[in-house]
Amino acid sequence: MGDKSTTLTGLVRGKFAPITPYTPYPMKLIGKGSKPYSILTAKCPRCHEGEMFVDSNPYNLRNMDKMHASCGVCGQEYEPEPNFYYGAMYVSYGYTVALFVAVYVIFGVWLDWAMWPTVGALAATLVGLGPWLFRIARVTYLNIFVAYDPEAKG
Ligand SMILES: [Zn+2]
Repeated sequence: MGDKSTTLTGLVRGKFAPITPYTPYPMKLIGKGSKPYSILTAKCPRCHEGEMFVDSNPYNLRNMDKMHASCGVCGQEYEPEPNFYYGAMYVSYGYTVALFVAVYVIFGVWLDWAMWPTVGALAATLVGLGPWLFRIARVTYLNIFVAYDPEAKG
């Protein structure tokens, strides 16, 4: 029995011991150092300190899509190649679908609204959150390619 557990431990060790994280730093789910932090605050995905957008308010529509060329804190480029954010369209699409499902479940199913009021709620949500969605889609997209590096500042 002792042998067995040794074997088991050995097996487990063999399989899981070399826990080399994919990134040099273990991924966190909340707070600074986590991707949601970078995404929800629109901060640089590398240092989590620099602002990605010129105007921090996404509802200032004239400046909605104006981004810094690179991070003022760590120098990370925000547009690594021309038309980089073309792919953010797919992220935006994913968020929009998730939002539609959530709004539909809340209004159409849970609150049992009729069809047209539910459609109205969907439209209002989409218009209301549009500028913000546009931004988080871009930040999310850059986050897919750039990992957090706490030593990147300066
Ligand atoms: Zn940065």
